[in-house]
Amino acid sequence: MTRTVYLNGQWLPETEAKVSVFDRGFMFADAIYEVTAVIGGKLIDYAGHAGRLKRSLASLNIAAPVSDEDMLALHREILARNGMTDGLIYLQISRGAQDRDFLFTNDLIPTFVMFTQSRPVLGNPKWGKGISVITMLEGRWEQRQIKTVQLLYSSLAKMEAQKQGADDAFFVENGFITEASSSNAHIVTKAGTLVTRDLSNALLHGITRGSVLDLARRAGLTVEERGFTPAEAKDAAEVFITSATNFVMPVTRIDGQPVGDGKPGPVSQTLLQAYIEDRLASAI
Ligand code: PMP
Repeated sequence: MTRTVYLNGQWLPETEAKVSVFDRGFMFADAIYEVTAVIGGKLIDYAGHAGRLKRSLASLNIAAPVSDEDMLALHREILARNGMTDGLIYLQISRGAQDRDFLFTNDLIPTFVMFTQSRPVLGNPKWGKGISVITMLEGRWEQRQIKTVQLLYSSLAKMEAQKQGADDAFFVENGFITEASSSNAHIVTKAGTLVTRDLSNALLHGITRGSVLDLARRAGLTVEERGFTPAEAKDAAEVFITSATNFVMPVTRIDGQPVGDGKPGPVSQTLLQAYIEDRLASAI
């Protein structure tokens, strides 16, 4: 059976409801959602869901696409249009679509989707005997070595940096820098040692990071793969980031303080040139 779904003010057969590939929900997980149970055609705990929806939207600075009254009316209408009495209503609101960029503008039109899933809610057979669980580490947001599109926090970090007049942010965890919001972070100590965080699930294993470290070693630099603190970075001779599009980008200010003399240093410059030459020569 083809459901009727709601998409940005339209009621459409589910097969015809299409969202842009540039939607920030798809690209950056820049979206929020709610699920409300329906029993006998009635919405369960609706006030709670509607309240949390508004709090989530406000936290991400996404404008509510419809008024409170219309939101309730849409919940009732989607049930009527699908003749659903028992199941759930899923709704998702993303920031909207824009050419891919961590930074977003505030003129985007949110993407608003609602659909129903018809299923019995009462009489769950598992209520009678219960379920079994396993224990595991709390790992949400912690598998950073996987290049997932769970990029909401990185995006918000870049927006915050921009608000504070900076270009990017270094993330700090347990007193140590993990990486930048979409690149790896490195320092060159006053003794000339290149220090970069060791690989683990705390950071993305940057392809550029690996290539630049190889080039640094080949150039005779001492490379130490270990965590470093914001204080060490601020006191370093040089700081730089690496990524597929920045290559080697000098960082000349941290929290408003100049790094070294506040100008790109010789090691970063040399590594940038070496990276460009070496990678152009092996480009396919
Ligand atoms: N860390 C993060 C969080 C990133 O998003 C990126 C770039 N996508 C990197 C590091 C750098 O990785 P690469 O050199 O492969 O671009």
